[in-house]
Amino acid sequence: MSCNEHVAILGAGIGGLTLALSLHQAGIPCKVYEAVQELKPLGVGVNLLPHAVRELSELGLLSALDAVSVRTKEAVFFTEHGQLVFNEPAGAAAGYDWPQFSIHRGDLQTVLLAAVQERLGQDSVVCDHRCVDVTQDANGVTVSFVDAAGRPRENIQAAVAIACDGIHSVVRKKLYPNEGAPRYSGVNMWRGVTRWQPILSGASMIRAGWLSIGKMVIYPIRNAIDEQGRQLVNWVAELESEQPAQRDWSRAGRLEDFLPVFENWKFDWLDVPALIRAADSILEYPMVDQDPLPRWTHGRITLLGDAAHPMVPRGSNGAGQAIIDARCLAGWLKREGVSPQALESYDKERVPATTNVVLTNRKTPPDAILREVYERSGGKRFDNLEEIVSRSELQSISDRYKRVAGYDPAQLKNRPSFL
Ligand SMILES: Cc1cc2nc3c(=O)[nH]c(=O)nc-3n(C[C@H](O)[C@H](O)[C@H](O)COP(=O)(O)OP(=O)(O)OC[C@H]3O[C@@H](n4cnc5c(N)ncnc54)[C@H](O)[C@@H]3O)c2cc1C
Repeated sequence: MSCNEHVAILGAGIGGLTLALSLHQAGIPCKVYEAVQELKPLGVGVNLLPHAVRELSELGLLSALDAVSVRTKEAVFFTEHGQLVFNEPAGAAAGYDWPQFSIHRGDLQTVLLAAVQERLGQDSVVCDHRCVDVTQDANGVTVSFVDAAGRPRENIQAAVAIACDGIHSVVRKKLYPNEGAPRYSGVNMWRGVTRWQPILSGASMIRAGWLSIGKMVIYPIRNAIDEQGRQLVNWVAELESEQPAQRDWSRAGRLEDFLPVFENWKFDWLDVPALIRAADSILEYPMVDQDPLPRWTHGRITLLGDAAHPMVPRGSNGAGQAIIDARCLAGWLKREGVSPQALESYDKERVPATTNVVLTNRKTPPDAILREVYERSGGKRFDNLEEIVSRSELQSISDRYKRVAGYDPAQLKNRPSFL
């Protein structure tokens, strides 16, 4: 493979694998270098909203994803008393040409990896290659790696290097050595997956409560997992905490740190503490992000996904924005050739767009609906919601976020394909 057109993708997460598939679609050679020795289906649930599903559908992955996910039909918001605040249809049920998928992150990564290996070849993803440095000159980049034991591996040469190496990106650190610590939002999250009977419609994305008193996000990610017709149900408990948890996706959490807050959440539609207690395992993670960067592209090197724009997970957009970055970048590389100019064009398009998402996630993501109702009701039960807040006001919070994140129905339908 000539290094004049070879793209080195650093990291085989959601963004890196989507980029490999998109470059293959564009006829551009690439290889993915991943730090871990073996890719295992880690994490819990993620949501793919219609703008991201459109991209995966243009990669021919719709039926593979359908087989391992739930097509989400509605978004529903409740108070901590279990009172309904707001609901709206989601995905195909809302009239989009593409569904919303709720899916286990591991299943999403597995579907992407299988497609990469099938289309680009088994050797297109190399594990046990932790990138430790990237340098560049006028002709290309040189990437250095170590193995799991820290021993140096052979350097590779490529035309450009795309850092898809996630929240602890070494390439971002190299480009921005003086960047401050991640910004803690004051909230920690405990995440789990429980085998449970379908809740509400069986395809509902539920958000309830508010951060200062405890908030839950609950949605199914796999249908009919056993003879009783149970689903895999993903849940996240979010709670204000003085100390941030460690920024480690696989860190185990403890029930006693958050369950007491939700002990009384026994609604006629769900026994929340029972759902939490029945979890297979529990992980904890801090709600952190980083201030948006002024640019990601430096010559022949650029950033993508969480390496570029880590965001607080309040808008179901972390995986989605990584997928859109990948598609956008592949489009520019196809149109402008594998060159610094193409990385520059990608930067110009995606830095402002994702900056807006990162900042909106801090202040007015969709769950701001819950904040409005909590603050105006003083956390008390209400008889008539309309006396507190109008439906149109809540709808406008949701609609505004769709425009910022890129899944406003008309905007999405009319946007040309990236590739
Ligand atoms: C183990 C794990 C579990 C996760 N669980 C969840 C979850 O439950 N919920 C959620 O919303 N998000 C989760 N995420 C994050 C989520 O995947 C991302 O927010 C989002 O999908 C954007 O994807 P990304 O490709 O930018 O980053 P990621 O999907 O995080 O992928 C980054 C990849 O780069 C690899 N990598 C890191 N450093 C190097 C290096 N120096 N050299 C080469 N490769 C490197 C990592 O091993 C990883 O495979 C998890 C990420 C990981 C890695």
